[in-house]
Amino acid sequence: MNIDIAVIGGGASGLAAAISAKEIAPAANVMVIEKLPRVGKKIIASGNGKCNLSNVNISEYNYHGSLNAVKVISAVPDYKEFFTEKLGILCTIGSEGKEGGVYPRSNSSSTVLNALRLRSSKLGVDELCSCDINEIIPKKSGFILRSTDNEIFCRRVIIAAGGYAAPSFGTDGSIMRIMKGMGYKISKICPAVAPLKVDPNDIRGLKGVRVKGEISAYSGNKLLRTEKGELQFNENNISGICVFNLAYLFSEYEGSLKLRADLLPEISPQKLFGYLMTLRRERGELPIEEFLTGAFVKNLAVYLVKRSLDRSISNSVSSLTKQEILAICGNIKGLEFKVCGCSSWQHAQATMGGIHNSCVDENLQSKLHKGLYFCGEILDVAGDCGGYNLQWAWSSGIMAGKNCGKGLPNDKIK
Ligand SMILES: Cc1cc2nc3c(=O)[nH]c(=O)nc-3n(C[C@H](O)[C@H](O)[C@H](O)COP(=O)(O)OP(=O)(O)OC[C@H]3O[C@@H](n4cnc5c(N)ncnc54)[C@H](O)[C@@H]3O)c2cc1C
Repeated sequence: MNIDIAVIGGGASGLAAAISAKEIAPAANVMVIEKLPRVGKKIIASGNGKCNLSNVNISEYNYHGSLNAVKVISAVPDYKEFFTEKLGILCTIGSEGKEGGVYPRSNSSSTVLNALRLRSSKLGVDELCSCDINEIIPKKSGFILRSTDNEIFCRRVIIAAGGYAAPSFGTDGSIMRIMKGMGYKISKICPAVAPLKVDPNDIRGLKGVRVKGEISAYSGNKLLRTEKGELQFNENNISGICVFNLAYLFSEYEGSLKLRADLLPEISPQKLFGYLMTLRRERGELPIEEFLTGAFVKNLAVYLVKRSLDRSISNSVSSLTKQEILAICGNIKGLEFKVCGCSSWQHAQATMGGIHNSCVDENLQSKLHKGLYFCGEILDVAGDCGGYNLQWAWSSGIMAGKNCGKGLPNDKIK
């Protein structure tokens, strides 16, 4: 096979890149090469099947890694121009998940994939599925791409093969390893938008508990970031969108990362202390395990008193000393957990780390191999939960596609 532009990876960034490249260079043959039997499997699964495709509040705060994601995002059409005006997808701002999340109005991710494929087939983009590229050989006038069954020569190539997160969607980091072998610098890899592991003994009794609060990540006494939302306790990890948004910190602070949760952020420590003193008066004859009944779900209420006291909780509430009430108050306002690991790739939605900024120019072209472009999660960018990762995928895909198409037959760039 001999083609002008090969796009390795038929995910969000690859489809956006192929559309963008073909729009710029209509006479060029553009082919999306996908290892799975169909393109866009992860798009279908995104946002719990609803596809949180962007966010109205894009800022540097929401992106992590060595590349400046916001610079790329601001340089290309926004979600309204790309999705609504170009692809005809009606969008809405969702009330679930992260504030400002943009969803297709249909509430169905398949609408997004169908519209992307409609556009790419109308433009004449080809798809080659079930083709797992395992070798990329740079040549003087282009690249040879090899899979077990195919050898493809392309003049230019866009690498849109994603990272390591959620390998059941085809992303096992295989191309990242190939790029490493070709001399590319890869920033430290770790799961992002993922749960954080804690010692199971530290959360014994909390499995299944969900509680709204404010959670902060610390390294020693240094506050790194605070998020609000619902915490979810599992057997050996804590999850919930607010925790997902702290997971990327594990890459830099492995070994010293800890979480501190304020379970009643709307109540000051003084007010909380007053409330607990009232409970002590009114519940004097009850066992301590009933002390926080009404404030939290049963398992959490019992856990909090157990964790705060060094004695039996079957004693009566009236036996609680002022010091013990202060300790309970302290745990409610600052329940601490040492992070002992990041989640498995299966449970991660994004990849922290990837092809380092020093390897690409401002057009997302490789500095090591002319004619080779990158987009999406393979690059060293991880966004927060809430539409930020897909927005990065589309925007970087549009930019890589546009620049890759320049100078090819019939290019529309003046
Ligand atoms: C369950 C889940 C839900 C998510 N929900 C959201 C959400 O609602 N909003 C949001 O912003 N982000 C969400 N994300 C993250 C977001 O989907 C990804 O960041 C984004 O899809 C990355 O796009 P990409 O094109 O870089 O890579 P991918 O979409 O991962 O696509 C890469 C493609 O390359 C193919 N490929 C890999 N290696 C090869 C190879 N060697 N040869 C050929 N093909 C190859 C893969 O099969 C895959 O199809 C979610 C992620 C998951 C896992």
